[in-house]
Amino acid sequence: MRKKRRIGLFFTIVLILSVLGFLAWFLMTIFEGGNPQIAIQPLPGYLTADQKFSLVVTDTERGLRTIKVTVKQGGREVPVFSQSFPFQGLLNRGGVHRHETEFFLDPSRLNLAQGRVDLEIQVRDYSRRSGGDGNLGLLSHKMTVDTIPPAIRAVSRIHYVNLGGSGLIVYETSSDTDESGLYVKDLFFQGYAASSEGRDGLCVCYFAIPYNMEAKPDIFLWAKDKAGNVSKAGFYCRIRKKRFRQDRINITDRFLKRILPYFATVSFAADSGNKEKFLKINRDLRQKNAETFYDLRTRTSEERLWGDENWARLRNAATMARFADHRTYYYRGKKIDEQVHLGVDLASLAQSPVQATNSGRTIFTGDMGIYGLTVVIDHGQGISSGYSHLSKISVQTGQEISRGEEIGFTGQTGLAGGDHLHFGIMVHGIPVNPIEWWDPHWVEDNILRKLRLLDGK
Ligand SMILES: [Zn+2]
Repeated sequence: MRKKRRIGLFFTIVLILSVLGFLAWFLMTIFEGGNPQIAIQPLPGYLTADQKFSLVVTDTERGLRTIKVTVKQGGREVPVFSQSFPFQGLLNRGGVHRHETEFFLDPSRLNLAQGRVDLEIQVRDYSRRSGGDGNLGLLSHKMTVDTIPPAIRAVSRIHYVNLGGSGLIVYETSSDTDESGLYVKDLFFQGYAASSEGRDGLCVCYFAIPYNMEAKPDIFLWAKDKAGNVSKAGFYCRIRKKRFRQDRINITDRFLKRILPYFATVSFAADSGNKEKFLKINRDLRQKNAETFYDLRTRTSEERLWGDENWARLRNAATMARFADHRTYYYRGKKIDEQVHLGVDLASLAQSPVQATNSGRTIFTGDMGIYGLTVVIDHGQGISSGYSHLSKISVQTGQEISRGEEIGFTGQTGLAGGDHLHFGIMVHGIPVNPIEWWDPHWVEDNILRKLRLLDGK
C-alpha cells in the first residue's frame, strides 16, 4: 500500500509540473516580447515630390497584426497607409509573419507645409502583451519638405560669345541655392558666389563655347537646392560663328629623329616605324594630355585671383599658329593625320623668358607629353593659362604667381617644330581663343563691365 501511494504521489507531482510547465510555455508564447521589425527604403532627408517608399515588416513569433503609417507635422497627424492582418490557425501560426508593401508620400496631396515633417511607422503583432495590443515596432524618420525650386535669373543682359571663345554671366540666385552655373548643351560651367565682392546672392560664371560646338546649342542657367530641386533659366546669348584656319604640316624624318628621344617612355608596338610612332604620339598621347588639361579644372580657386590689368602676351613674339587651326599632317607626300591646335604658338628668340599672363597660382608644372615641359596657372573661378614646350621651368606647383612674373623659358620640348611658346587659355578645362583675353577692349566689354555689376554699378 505504501508503495502504491508513493507511485500515486509521484504521478500527481509529474502531472502538476507538466501542467505548470505547459502553462508557463503557453503564457510565454502568447505574451512573447519580440518586437516586429521594420525596414524601409529610401530614407531621404528631403521630400521634394511624390516619393515612393518600400516597406518590409516581419514578426517571427506571433505574427503581424497591423501596420500604420502616418506623417506628423506641427501637431497635425495625417494617415498615409494602414493594413490589418487576420488571426489564423492555432496561436496565429497560419497568420502573416512577413509582409512587403509600398506607399507614396505626395507632399502636395497630403497638404504638407514646407519644413519639418516626421514619418512614423507603427507595427503591432499578435502577442497578448501591452494589455493585449501586442508588441510595438516603431520607426520614425525626420524629413524636410521642400517642393520649391531655387530662383535663378540673369543680371548681366547681353552676351555675345564667339565660337571657340569665352563668356561671363552675372546672375542672381535665391538663398537656398546649393549649386549653380550654366550649361552649354551638356557641358557644365560652375558658377561662384560673389558675396564677398558685393550684393548677396550674386554669382559669376565664366563659360566657353567650344570651337567645335554645334551652331545653336541649348544654353541655360541652372540651380539646385539642398533638397535636390532644380531650376533652369534662359538668358540672352548670341553665338558668333567663326571660321578657323587650315594648316598643312610636313613631318620629315629629320624632325622625327629629333623629337622621338623625348618620347622614350611611350611604349610603342614592336614593329612600329617612325611614322607609326609619330601617329601614336600625335593621337593617343595628345588625347591623354587633353584629358590631363581638362582634369586640372577641378583645381581652380573659388576666388578670382587675377587683377584688372591686361592679360600679357609673350614679348616681341610672332604668331606662328593660331587657336583651332585645323592641321593636316603629311609624311613623304601622303596625308597621315588631322588634329586641331588648341592654343596659340608664339615665337621669339630661342630660350626667351616667359611671363605669367596674369596673377594666379600654379596648378601644374612638369612634363605633359606632346606639350613638353608645361606650366599651368589657375586664375580662379575656372580660368587658367598654359605655357608649353618650355626649355626650363622656374616655378613650383602650388606657388602664388604675380602678373608678369617669370615662370620659365621658351624651348622645343615635346612635339615642337622649333623653339616657341605654345600658349593656351582654358575656361573650366575647355580650351578657348587666347586672343580675346589679350585684347583689353574685349576684356573690358565682356568681362570687367559685367564684374562691375557686382558692385551695383
Ligand atoms: Zn602649339
